Amino acid sequence: MTLQAETFKSLVRVAAERVIASAPELTALDQAIGDGDHGTNMKRGFEAVLGKLDTIGEQPLNEALKTIGRTLVMTVGGASGPLYGSFFLAAGDALTGKNLPEDIAEVFGSGVNAVSARGRSHAGEKTMLDVLVPVLETLKADAGRADLIARVRVTASEAVAKTAPMQATKGRASFLGARSVGHIDPGAQSSCVLVDAVCSTLEGRQ
Ligand code: ADP
Ligand code: MG
Repeated sequence: MTLQAETFKSLVRVAAERVIASAPELTALDQAIGDGDHGTNMKRGFEAVLGKLDTIGEQPLNEALKTIGRTLVMTVGGASGPLYGSFFLAAGDALTGKNLPEDIAEVFGSGVNAVSARGRSHAGEKTMLDVLVPVLETLKADAGRADLIARVRVTASEAVAKTAPMQATKGRASFLGARSVGHIDPGAQSSCVLVDAVCSTLEGRQ
């Protein structure tokens, strides 16, 4: 196993474990402005990813991302399953012929575009894109900086807090209209958990 594959495998394991551990919090957020299933949806999906960890660790990175995407599409359910699945499938496609970490903004950007296309949504609508888009902007703006990982972490956690004053215009939370204001979006929070898990694992390896 190459070091890169080993690093990737531990990134996936830590991210999956963090999502699983945050299921109660994600569920509580979704109880406030949705149907209360985001935690169980994500837990189911990332438990399935953990079950495929050995296969994922043996695949080239582009194929491994696509395996994660397919697994999430098949197991998460809800609105978030196809959206997160699209992210990883598109990121895997974009990684073909590219290299990490140099091309991370392009690869991550392809994932973000896929979520936007699938969800017919954009930043500002109180969804996971309100974390994913700012993270992409930081990846582009601060590429090459020594503190890029720390900046991405801060971006994600600040972005999730900024979803609270937004009014949802996509997904179930949009049914609440103005009553969606004042609550953090559950999908924004799960995106933050994923980004933070990847960043903290990479920081520990620096
Ligand atoms: P459901 O809403 O079907 O119960 P989940 O609870 O698992 O599915 O996921 C809800 C999350 O999915 C929301 O908090 C939001 O971040 C995200 N989401 C929903 N619809 C969209 C969309 N059209 N575009 C982007 N993200 C969306
Ligand atoms: Mg839900």
